[in-house]
Amino acid sequence: MEHLYLHVPFCVRRCSYCDFSIAVRKRIPANEYVGTVLKEAAGLGEATLKTIYFGGGTPSLLPSDGIAKLLREFSPLFRVPRSDFRVEVTLEANPEDVTVDSARSWKAAGINRVSLGGQSFDDTVLKWMHRSHDAARIGAAMHALRGAGIENISLDLIFALPDELQRDWERDLDMALALRPEHLSLYGLTVEPRTPLDRWISRGATHAPDEERYAEEYLLAHERLSVFGYQFYEVSNAALPGFRSQHNSAYWSGKPYIGLGPAAHSFDGTTRRWNLRAWEAYRRAVAEGRSPVESEERLTEEQKELEAMYLGRLYRPSPPLAAASPRRPRLGDRAGREA
Ligand code: SF4
Repeated sequence: MEHLYLHVPFCVRRCSYCDFSIAVRKRIPANEYVGTVLKEAAGLGEATLKTIYFGGGTPSLLPSDGIAKLLREFSPLFRVPRSDFRVEVTLEANPEDVTVDSARSWKAAGINRVSLGGQSFDDTVLKWMHRSHDAARIGAAMHALRGAGIENISLDLIFALPDELQRDWERDLDMALALRPEHLSLYGLTVEPRTPLDRWISRGATHAPDEERYAEEYLLAHERLSVFGYQFYEVSNAALPGFRSQHNSAYWSGKPYIGLGPAAHSFDGTTRRWNLRAWEAYRRAVAEGRSPVESEERLTEEQKELEAMYLGRLYRPSPPLAAASPRRPRLGDRAGREA
C-alpha cells in the first residue's frame, strides 16, 4: 500500500449541503482521536507510503501537535522518512483555522500540501452555506500558507447554486485565479437527503440547482481555467503542470489505499472495507480491541469495470460530449473519504 487516508470527523457546525460522516463538537477530543487512530494503525500490515491525506470533517481543527505526533509515529510504521519530501502530505483546512502560526506548525510537522475549503468569495453565499469563514479569510489563509512555505495549495469552490442567491460564478472564478492556487477542485452542488438544504427545498424555501446552470458554469470554469494554464485531469479537478493530486489520482486509477478513522474506506485491489461511521462507535471498538471495520465488499470484475468507467479510466467519449456532460460529483467525492 502506498496511500494513506485519515478521516478526521470533527466539525464546529454542519454546512447546509453536507451529509458527510462528521461529529459536530465545540471542543474536539484531539488526544483521544490521535491515540485511537495510532492504535488502529498499529494493527495494520507494513506499507511504504507515497501519499498521506488528512480529510474530513475538518482536519485543521486538530491541534498542530496532534498532526505532528501522527506523522512522527507513522514514519517508522509506514516507512516514511521525515526527510523524504517526495511524499505528498495533504491537510484539508478551513480558512478560519489558517493563521500564520498554524501554517508554520503544519509545515514544520511535515504537511506540504493544503486543500482549502474556500467554496465562494461571496459573503451572502458563505452564510447560506453555513460556512464559518467570510470571503476575506480565504485570501488571508492563502497568504499565511505561502508565508509558511506551503507551495502546493488546492482551493475548493462550489458551483451551480440556486438562482435566488444570484451568485456571480465568473467573479468567484476570477477571485480564485487571482490567488493563483496550484490546484482547483470544483464541485457542483448536489442535494443529499436529510441535509438542511434538502429540508429547505422540501418546504419551498429554496430551489434545487438547475441542470442548465450546472452545465453553463462548468463549461465557463473549463474555459477560464484553461486560459490560465490549468489542466483538468479529472472531471472536478484542475491543476497547473506538476501539481496533480497524487493521492486522489491513486483513487481514480484504482490503486490500493489504507483508510484510518471513523467512516474511512480501505481498498486492497480486490476488497473494499469501511470503518464504523460514528466517532463514538469507532472509538469504542478500537479501545476494546475489536475491529472497527463495519463491513466489506469484494468487487466483481463487472463492478471494477463500472468503477473504471465512471472514474474516467475507460471513459473515451468524443470531446464535445465529454465537455457537455460532466459527471455530477458529490461534494467532496473522494473514494475512501465517506461511508
Ligand atoms: S462541508 Fe466540510 S466543513 Fe462543512 S460540515 Fe461538511 S465536512 Fe464539515
